[in-house]
Amino acid sequence: MNEQLTLQDIYRARQRIAGLTLRTPLVRSESLSRRWNCEAWLKLDCLQPTGAFKLRGAVNALLGLDAAQRRRGVVTMSTGNFGRALAYAGQHLGIPVKVCISRLVPQNKVEALRQSGAELVIHGEAQDEADVEARRLRDEQGLAYVSPFDDPLVIAGQGTCGLEIMEEQPDIDMLFAGLSGGGLIAGIGLAVKSINPRAEVIGVSMNQGAAMLESLAAGHPLQVPEVASLADSLGGGIGLDNAWSFAMTQRYMDRGYKVDEAQIARAMLHFLREEKLLVEGAAAVGVAAVEQHQLDLSGRRVAFVVSGQNLSTATFAEACRLAGERPYENL
Ligand SMILES: *Cc1c(COP(=O)(O)O)cnc(C)c1O
Repeated sequence: MNEQLTLQDIYRARQRIAGLTLRTPLVRSESLSRRWNCEAWLKLDCLQPTGAFKLRGAVNALLGLDAAQRRRGVVTMSTGNFGRALAYAGQHLGIPVKVCISRLVPQNKVEALRQSGAELVIHGEAQDEADVEARRLRDEQGLAYVSPFDDPLVIAGQGTCGLEIMEEQPDIDMLFAGLSGGGLIAGIGLAVKSINPRAEVIGVSMNQGAAMLESLAAGHPLQVPEVASLADSLGGGIGLDNAWSFAMTQRYMDRGYKVDEAQIARAMLHFLREEKLLVEGAAAVGVAAVEQHQLDLSGRRVAFVVSGQNLSTATFAEACRLAGERPYENL
């Protein structure tokens, strides 16, 4: 990494994105605090207008473009929360957004993206092929390619979530967040460590297809097969040509954990029953990690980034099945 991001970039991002994103609440969880004999805080980034923290980075990336690039527009290949966030931000800022997707993307996701105002480019049979098309459009049409996680402006935007946590609870001992491409952990890690270097930053991925954790173990970016998970927003690779999020995760993340599907399901049900929040699997992995790895949190101040709430009823039903619950009887 020749250039480095600093806390100043996160402050700059915060000023830029304030108009289109929420400063989300940090609320105490009574039930988790009691269960683990700690002070547990939930950062409710699931309340962002597009249902996930990704809007922070997407808005910052678009507002960082110069006037000519804004006119030409941007292209990405994310079919999930980032694609949705970029489309929303583009619509509000008058910047054309193209999202390249493969023919395999399910119809409900295609509809959601279309409704969010993005122009869809359907290409190839797999995400990799869609990505090749996105890069081709970048070169051919002079669009700016925006990575969902490996982009300094995106990372600085996600860092604003960590900055907000530290402003309200500067004495946090530990912070848990979902880990996929690493944009969230990179940004939050930079914010947290700049303000309190002793606070621990912990990333959590699902058991199968944890591309960043496997890459960190190997010491370089690896390609890992993608496997379906309740934490579907944590799927996908980190890019073999990763320039930012791998090095920053290596630097700022203290530990990583993997969690299994049944534990993610139980954590999702915890949010529904005890916190009265419907959250997606990726947002529940921190709670799942504490349970599965029996982490001792007693006497500590702990923050959990509740990162998103974009969940289909089918996925929720699957979570209930895996958790062994009949939701309509037992809420
Ligand atoms: C993208 C995403 C993550 C992980 O963020 P990365 O920057 O890819 O590591 C976690 N939770 C939700 C809900 C997400 O959409």
